[in-house]
Amino acid sequence: MVQAKKQFGQNFLIDQGVINSIISSFSPSPNDSVLEIGPGHGALTFPLLETLDILNIVEIDRDLISKYKSLNSPKINIYESDILKFDLDQLPKPLRIIGNLPYNISSPILFHILKSKDNIKDMLFMFQYEVAERITAKPNSKAFGRLSVMMQTFFDTEILIHVPPESFEPAPKIDSAVVYFKPKLNFELKNFVKFEELVKLSFSQRRKTLKNCLKSILTQVDTAIDLSLRAEQLEINDYLTLLKDYERLN
Ligand code: SAM
Repeated sequence: MVQAKKQFGQNFLIDQGVINSIISSFSPSPNDSVLEIGPGHGALTFPLLETLDILNIVEIDRDLISKYKSLNSPKINIYESDILKFDLDQLPKPLRIIGNLPYNISSPILFHILKSKDNIKDMLFMFQYEVAERITAKPNSKAFGRLSVMMQTFFDTEILIHVPPESFEPAPKIDSAVVYFKPKLNFELKNFVKFEELVKLSFSQRRKTLKNCLKSILTQVDTAIDLSLRAEQLEINDYLTLLKDYERLN
């Protein structure tokens, strides 16, 4: 075993019960087009390969990459890359993505994946518990923020498994959770860039009203949404209404 590298967020799964639950929740079929982000030493990779014909893996750590190369397996497509620079659209669609994500960059990974959302069938990821809560949070809760709105606009999200620190080696200081993402059906958004901008601005000063946060792009006369509220008080659909109002102005 190579040593765990902190800079790559390496906490390897060692709990066979958790591994089994993740694989059975993901429920792979032989022909699925699957990408695993950060296979590490293969805690999820090898069980997945028991069912899948082909598995694509993206890994940044050269030592781990050479381990997979030396297997010479025709079933593994190896991409030595930073996932944040990896073009997901090069893989066969519809794409299923799985991974015990490096915690230090889990939000940037989600924002990167959003660019390819139209090609995704579903996703199952391990996060630190606090991030899983933010992803799945409902309005009017402390955890509800930009990440909740951006992910829940495009995906139904659900925490499936609560995972304690001792399931990993080395053990992190915090709890973890596995989240399942299923794209919302028949949902298309014409102007993703504007939507990102709107949501980012809305949550730019959490304690101020939307009137304040959005004043550079929209005022109360432009929308039926009550701008005296704060960003965390709106439902996901309210953000889509705000987007329409914003688009009309341009
Ligand atoms: N899947 C393994 C497991 O469950 O034991 C390893 C999970 S570990 C939390 C995260 C993995 O992601 C490591 O293998 C790490 O090297 C890899 N990784 C970290 N940053 C990455 C990046 N930017 N792009 C691709 N892989 C990355």
